[in-house]
Amino acid sequence: MHVRKEDTVVILSGNDRGKKGRVLKVFPAKDRIIVEGVRFIKKHTKPSQQNQSGGIVTKEAPINVSNVMVICTKCGQPTRVKRREITEENRKRHTRACVKCGEVF
Ligand SMILES: [Zn+2]
Repeated sequence: MHVRKEDTVVILSGNDRGKKGRVLKVFPAKDRIIVEGVRFIKKHTKPSQQNQSGGIVTKEAPINVSNVMVICTKCGQPTRVKRREITEENRKRHTRACVKCGEVF
């Protein structure tokens, strides 16, 4: 996954195209993410502890990760990221770098 929690992304397709939002959740196994304020769906709920009357609530639905682009924290532009594997203290991890300005984040 090229997107992580807390990233800011821009939506590339669908009704929310052009919208920006913060990534609230990632589902790596499904290639899906939840972006704050994007793709609200209405959900019918039964009464519960938190929502005593039940009814209709709106909440964000997961979208496919291929429909978003990460916004670089440095140059502020939607960008693709270069992934690189590094070994740090004998553990492998990935770093990401902006293809436009080279910023690692
Ligand atoms: Zn950049």
